Amino acid sequence: MFKKILIANRGEIAVRIIRACREMGIATVAVYSQADANSLSVQLADESVCVGPGPGKDSYLNVANIVSAALITGAEAIHPGYGFLSEVASFAEICAAVGIKFIGPSVDAIERMGDKATARATAKKAGVPTVPGSEGILATEADAIRTAHKIGYPVVVKATAGGGGRGIRVVEDEDELARVFKMAQAEAAASFGNADVYLEKYIRRMRHIEVQILGDEHGNCLHLGERECSVQTVRHQKVVEEAPSASLSPGMRKRIGESAVKAAKAVGYANAGTVEFIYTPEEEFYFMEMNTRIQVEHPVTEAVTGIDLVQWQIRIAAGERLSFQQRSIEWTGHSIECRVTAQDPNRGFAPAAGTLTTVRLPGGLGVRVDTQIYSGYTVPPFYDSNLAKVIVWAPDRLQAIQRMRCALGELVIEGSPTNVSFLQRILSDDRYLANEISTAFLPKLMEEAGLTI
Ligand code: ADP
Ligand code: ADP
Ligand code: MG
Repeated sequence: MFKKILIANRGEIAVRIIRACREMGIATVAVYSQADANSLSVQLADESVCVGPGPGKDSYLNVANIVSAALITGAEAIHPGYGFLSEVASFAEICAAVGIKFIGPSVDAIERMGDKATARATAKKAGVPTVPGSEGILATEADAIRTAHKIGYPVVVKATAGGGGRGIRVVEDEDELARVFKMAQAEAAASFGNADVYLEKYIRRMRHIEVQILGDEHGNCLHLGERECSVQTVRHQKVVEEAPSASLSPGMRKRIGESAVKAAKAVGYANAGTVEFIYTPEEEFYFMEMNTRIQVEHPVTEAVTGIDLVQWQIRIAAGERLSFQQRSIEWTGHSIECRVTAQDPNRGFAPAAGTLTTVRLPGGLGVRVDTQIYSGYTVPPFYDSNLAKVIVWAPDRLQAIQRMRCALGELVIEGSPTNVSFLQRILSDDRYLANEISTAFLPKLMEEAGLTI
């Protein structure tokens, strides 16, 4: 096992990884930007190294500084968390070149799943269903129009290098496609440094169902069941997630899980990863993409399986074999996660920064809070607006919802606007309670409530 790990991230996920390391007796090195000197991860880690100024591109994306920090402190491995360098194949490659273990899949797997059009082709070849769409990258506007005509409108134009809900554009008809195609390419080039786009049929009433994968470096690969992530803003950002999905039968869970394993095995996947699917009202599922990293919403899977995903990421990277088999994985009860952000729902969800004068976190049986915030903590303006993840577990879905309402009711954050009232509104909506949701649910609810983003 590693003796020391560097965590190349910030916020709650850095804290989460430090906790996993500490329980395993592994020393930790936190890296931080000048804007994060007072962060909880710096306070909790055994050592810390400043890697640059506030903006992410100068610090948490500064490969030379991060790799140097690992070499200087003698860290044997780097955990990249999510976002930042977690899905950057060249970073994993540099780590390998200097003898540092990257805690994640192989460079090859990151490359083959990181490019979404390639990932789609890989899944299709492996026999995993994909939604009708283009065969790979669209070279010209004429190609796009021809493909869209064939599959029928509406369609969605996606940046092959996109992520975090960005680089996705729904197109209703041919006029619109002609108007926006070049714009989509230009935006993709500006945002992701890659202009390539592809096209898929837009499924209006879909559920976002994703499957957690764990593979070791000895060829074993299994799934830990699904997460329901259909409660998303109109910008395709997840807000509330649950495990299991209340809409999958055990038979469907098995089928979709086996498909996810198939997609992962197609690239020899080792470590934790997530295969995302479109799930239709007709109970069909289609591969959407694979995230080759730990996911924000991983705790709901941990809650229902009892398996510590971050510890397993570390064990797998150290060469250990999975100690359980597919048939020994059991799912118990129901878990929900709410993403608490520093966004003001009444002001277009504008992100806020500033000092949190008072923070009081909820607790009690079945309540977990993963967060970097504390009373007196100043939220820097440079990063995403996540303040905390509140995760609950209960024997069934309705009890979990009730427990979440109580937990959010206990949560006090003063000094910044938050989205907590918005989360409570979701949790008390009859459609949510009845599990009558799709990715269209939250945009509809926001419209009804007069909230814009
Ligand atoms: P997940 O499926 O794990 O929720 P997301 O795709 O929502 O993953 O985003 C994962 C992480 O990627 C975020 O928590 C954040 O760190 C980063 N990220 C998401 N959106 C953006 C963005 N607009 N700009 C920069 N980073 C982002
Ligand atoms: P990202 O890398 O940004 O996470 P995804 O490909 O996972 O991109 O898509 C993000 C979200 O966009 C999905 O969760 C879903 O809500 C929506 N979406 C993606 N593809 C489609 C589609 N073909 N039809 C309808 N909605 C889609
Ligand atoms: Mg996605």
